[in-house]
This record gives sequence, C-alpha cells and structure tokens, in this order.
Amino acid sequence: MAIATNLGFSRIGANRELKKAVEAYWAGRTSPDDLRKSAAAIRAANWQIQTDAGIEHLPSGDFSFYDHVLDAAFAFDLIPRRFRNEAPANDLDLYFLMARGLAGGRQTQALEMTKWFDTNYHYLVPELEREQVFRLARNTSVEQSKEASRFRRAVRPVILGPLSLLLLSKSTDGSNPLNLLDRALPAYEELLQQLSATDATWVQIDEPVLVLDLNNEVIQQELPRCYERLAASAPGIRILLATYFGSLKENLDVALRLPISGLHLDLVRGRDQFEKALKGAPSSLTLSLGLIDGRNIWKSNLTAALALAEKAADAISTDRIMIAPSCSLLHVPVDLTGEDALPAEVRDWLAFGKQKLEEVSLITKALNLGRSAIADQLEENKGALARRTASKLVFESTVRARVAAIMASDLSRKSPHTVRKKKQAEVLHLPSLPTTTIGSFPQTEQLRRERLRARNGVIGQAAYKRFLKKEIEYAIRQQEEIGLDVLVHGEAERNDMVEYFGELLQGFAFTRNGWVQSYGSRCVKPPIIYGDVSRKAPMTIEWWQFTQSLTNRPVKGMLTGPVTILQWSFVRDDQPRRDTCLQLALAIRDEVIDLERAGCKIVQIDEPALREGLPLRAADATEYLSWAVDSFKLASAGVQDATQIHTHMCYANFQDIIGAISAMDADVISLESARSRMELLQTFVTSRYPNDLGPGVYDIHSPRVPEKAEIESSLQRALEVIPPEQLWVNPDCGLKTRKWEEVAPALTNMVAAARSARSALPTRVETT
Ligand code: GLN
Ligand code: ZN
Repeated sequence: MAIATNLGFSRIGANRELKKAVEAYWAGRTSPDDLRKSAAAIRAANWQIQTDAGIEHLPSGDFSFYDHVLDAAFAFDLIPRRFRNEAPANDLDLYFLMARGLAGGRQTQALEMTKWFDTNYHYLVPELEREQVFRLARNTSVEQSKEASRFRRAVRPVILGPLSLLLLSKSTDGSNPLNLLDRALPAYEELLQQLSATDATWVQIDEPVLVLDLNNEVIQQELPRCYERLAASAPGIRILLATYFGSLKENLDVALRLPISGLHLDLVRGRDQFEKALKGAPSSLTLSLGLIDGRNIWKSNLTAALALAEKAADAISTDRIMIAPSCSLLHVPVDLTGEDALPAEVRDWLAFGKQKLEEVSLITKALNLGRSAIADQLEENKGALARRTASKLVFESTVRARVAAIMASDLSRKSPHTVRKKKQAEVLHLPSLPTTTIGSFPQTEQLRRERLRARNGVIGQAAYKRFLKKEIEYAIRQQEEIGLDVLVHGEAERNDMVEYFGELLQGFAFTRNGWVQSYGSRCVKPPIIYGDVSRKAPMTIEWWQFTQSLTNRPVKGMLTGPVTILQWSFVRDDQPRRDTCLQLALAIRDEVIDLERAGCKIVQIDEPALREGLPLRAADATEYLSWAVDSFKLASAGVQDATQIHTHMCYANFQDIIGAISAMDADVISLESARSRMELLQTFVTSRYPNDLGPGVYDIHSPRVPEKAEIESSLQRALEVIPPEQLWVNPDCGLKTRKWEEVAPALTNMVAAARSARSALPTRVETT
C-alpha cells in the first residue's frame, strides 16, 4: 500500500499565532513557559490539520521558533563565542540572541541571514571554525516526536542533514566547513540513536543541497561515507533522504545507491529524474514522490499526477511508494477555507497547504484502491482546470500586443552612465558621500491600526488619507532634522512593497489570511497573479507630489521592480515566468515615466528579489538573468539622462550575478552588506562596478542602535575599496520593521559618520 505523507508544514499557525507569541515574548510580556505553550498549541493544531487531511506520516521537528537551520546549529551547540559571552538568562534568550542580536536585555551582532535556496524564506547562517566542536546539546527533535505520537499516526522526525548544514554554514576562519564532516557525524549519530528510542520508525533527513551543482568529491565520496555511517549508527531507524527544489540530475545515481530506506524526489521541478529513478531504484528503496507543488497555490492536475504515481506503481510496487508534496509546505499558506474575499472564479483554481495534503491523500487512495475510488473528485478537478483555461479573467489582448512589440531600444538608456552622471549632478547638487535611506520608515502600531480601520470601513478613505499625509510629513521633518540628503516619503501607505502594487494592477488577486513566513516572526502575504498584468491608472504619483511639496530636498520616487513583484507573488503556471515579468515591467515603466513627468528627479526601483530568482543550477542561470535584466531595463530605461535611477537589493550573494547587476545599469545601487561586515562589497570591487553604490553601513534587521564609530568603521572599510565619488551612505534595507526610537538615533549617527568621512576626504569630490 502506498502511504500519504508530508515533509513539513507551515509553522506560523493558521492565524499567525507564532508571530503573536514570539513578539509578546520579545516585548517581555510573556514568560518562556507561555511561549513554549503557544508553540505546543501550534504544533498540535498542525498535526490535527494533517491528520484530518488523511496524512499517515506526520512530520515532527519541522516546527521552529525562528528558523530550522538555526535550530540545527543550536541542537549541535554551534554557538559562536560572542553569544555565549553575553550569558543570556536562559536557552530561549540565547537562541533569540543568535537570531536577532537582541534578547533578554543582551545585545550583540546577530548571525547573518540569507535566502533559503530560491525561496523568499530566510535562514540564519551558522558560523563554524576549523576546530568546531559538534555536540548534541539540545534535542528538541525527540521531545517533539513524542508530542506528535498523540495523533496515532506514524511520526516522522525531520532533521537537516549534515551535508546541507555544513554547506549552508559559513566559516569564520577561512577553513572549509565540509572538512568538519567527521566532527559533525558523531553528533548526528547520537541524534539518530536517541530518535530510534522513540516510536519513530522513519526519520526524514533533508538534504536539499543535493539539487545544487556539487563538486564530484562531495557526491562520490562524502555523501556515501556520510550515509553509510548514519545508517550503521541506528539500524532500527529507516532513513528517508529528502531532496527538493529541483532535480538531482547527475547526483541521482549516487543517491539511489546510498544505504537508505527511502528517497524523496521533487517531481514538480525535477520531473526529468522520474523515469531514471524508477529504473535505478534498488528493490530495498522506497520512493517518495513529490507530486504536489509545495511552492505554488494552484490546484494540481490530479489526473496527471495520478498518472505518474500509477507509472511508478507499475515499475516498483505500491508498497515502496510514498505520495508527498514536492517540498515542505512551509512556503504556502495554511488553509484556503475562509478566503471568501477572493473572486469565486479564481478561488476555484486554488489549493493551500491543507488542500494540498488532501490532494496527496486522494492520489494515494486512487493508487491503492483504483481510480474509481476518487472518480467524483477527479471529475471535479478536471472541471476546475478547464474553467481556469477558458476564463476571460486570464487573457488581455492589448497586453499581449504590447509585449510582442517590445524593441531593443526600449531596453537601454539614452547615454552611458558617465554622461548621465554629469547631467544628474547638475540637477541634484548633492554633497560627496550623499546620505539616503532605502525607502520605508517605521510602520507604527498606530499606522497599522488606522490601516485596519480604513480596511474595515471604520474610518473613511478621506480620513485615512489625511492620516497618511501626517505620517509622511512627520517622516519628512524627521529626515530634514537628521540631515539626510535624499529623502523618501516612507511608504506609510503601503503595507507591503509587492501587495501595494499588486492591488493597483490588473491580473492580481489577494487573500485575507494567506500568510507565508519570510524570516522569524515576519510573514508575507504574496499576491496571486492569475492573469495578464496591466496598469489601470498611475499608482504613486500623487503621493510623490504631495511629499515633494513639503521639502526642497529631492524625494525619491519609490517603486517595486518587476522581478521582485514576480518573485514575491504566487505566479501563474500557465505561461513562462518571463512573459509575466515583461508584462509587469511595462506597467512599472509607465509609472516611472509618469513620475519623471511629474518632476521627480530620482526614481528607485527595488529589486531585492532578483538574486533569489536565480535558478539553483548554473546551467539555467543565463536564461533567467537575461530576461530578468531585460525586465528591469524595460521598466527603468524610458527616462531622460538627467533622471537618476536607483535600485536596491538585499540578502544576496552578489558574486554570481555581478555581471547582471552591472548590465541593469542603474545609476545607483544600494545593497545589504552590514551583516557580512562589508564582505559582500568585494565582488563590486573585483568586478570594477562602474556605477554608484551604497553598501549598507548598518544592519537594520536588529533593533540595536549602531554607534557613530561603528558606522564610521563600516564606511572606512567601504572607502578603502570604493572611490569616494562612487559611494553613497545608507542603511542595509528599509526601516519599516523598526521603531522611530531606533531609527532616528541610528540615522543621526549615520549622518554624523558620513559628515566626518566627508570632511576627511582629500579634496571635495563631485558626486552623482
Ligand atoms: N523600499 C523598500 C523598503 O524600504 C525596500 C525593501 C526591501 O528591499 N526588502 O521597505
Ligand atoms: Zn532590502
């Protein structure tokens, strides 16, 4: 009999209970015990949902207070000295100190945060050193699998595999984290032994790194050696090695021969490995078929998924088949039930976490009992897919015609950067090392309350607008007082940089409660792009005009770029991503040109998600980068030379996309670099990045206020490698998650640091 399984579930709770619980704890309003109770309740609710959906293998240990990579580091005691030195009062505070740089009244620099593969989820990067000691110090995995046993289903503890843990970590002393494998394995062996003493018969070991380009030695030697040891250490445990986010490709053969009991394959993104896996799987190996898309929200084509499952059943027996989502359901919202604000027509096409698990169960049922066992559901599913294909909501002929008519000249500025730079300097008159921010200012309690009241109709639109204008005016006065050179309106009217534009564009739908974790307690509610995209009317002009009327200093127009809108939305799966992206780019282009017409001299088009859209395999990168860069240029290149185009990117490893970043040809790029202590900047230096750039001089993800001296030394590090006439001074990212009490002193220190640096410059240099 095939088994219905799941790899992991959203941990934020159906109503973002986790956010509320951890934030209350951070604010000192609740105790560690309260927080643990809330967490246990979320886990119980998740297992209930999964049980009700018919899942037979419940994942445990997939829950996390903040991040699962941090959990693995914490379990194995990979705790850098600076955190121990603070000697927090308890383990939870130590954990949150690593995550946030602030906990229980202690503070220090948090671990670096970076994107989890090509998702919009961020993990914390463990720091390792040559002599790193691994020790199973905290084993929450065992506790959580005991908790799950109450649900009378097979409990499957989930752990992050040793290769993935090491490869996702960074070394602080130049050593290669992979050399630590022999130090890590005993701790993993102990963990497996402890798990074998619980009821669990299967343990899921996640090794998503196996879908990446890995060097041969890792695959041919380290991987087999690693799993031989793990398998030998706990003979009572059946290891399910889980891979996802792509195909194993050339790594598949080795994976099939490992001494494991099961292998999970992502058949949504890695369909190409299916036949080969069926042929090559030894008779002792169970295959877990990832048939239901864990990265998107569309109903599956059940007939097609079932056909694959049946093919597998013919090739190997159903006893060796598990049916599963392609990856953990961490990346989709919990439940579609109650989403009654969606257009009914669109809602009919969707499936969230719970519904996806129901699909898993249906396929499993059909496999075990025959298609007739789910005949009605198959018909219903076919109907929904047919209604979607035929829907009038999806197709817009004018948009299609515009995309078809895009010309090469639409994709480039009129003159090269050096020429533009002079013209812009004449208009802008900025000092050297100009200071600015990334766009958003604190989204205060009050702001959120007023927004909610406006949404619920408690206050009218006019009153809400008046309120927003006051917020903007406050932000402007603050910035003037702080002494910033290029101002922003602060994005008070936006609750989210993608949702805001999505709501104003054609082709988007919005959920009420479709939250997905971004990092820690931060959640996002990705819009759903279901049809051709176009701009119904200007989107930001009025706000910009109002803001500029308040001040003599230049105010940046602030837009979200096409690639980021694409990347942070649930994207239609009935046309290539590229086509949707070009449609978005045309809409943003119109807005940029309208801003310029209104008198705006600087337009920032944020592309923080450009890097995360990069395919996981190098072979696929060129194609993606080519349409991603084209989309940015299509959006930005419609302006005159004297109009300055900024872009912003964060959390990225810029190394592998520096060519594309240069090709985007923005006049100024601001980037995240404080958490990595300016290491990221090196790439721009080595590649001789020609345009201007503002490496973030302090980390905004932590509530800690940086000292002037600290910012000065960041700035000095930047000045050592970047000519002053190319350099801007700004924080790492937008300030919406911070409080004014943190932002005002931090920016004041930043401006002071910039002024000191400016006065120390050999001669006054003309910038911008
Ligand atoms: N302009 C946006 C802001 O400041 C950029 C956010 C981002 O890069 N994630 O909030
Ligand atoms: Zn950012």
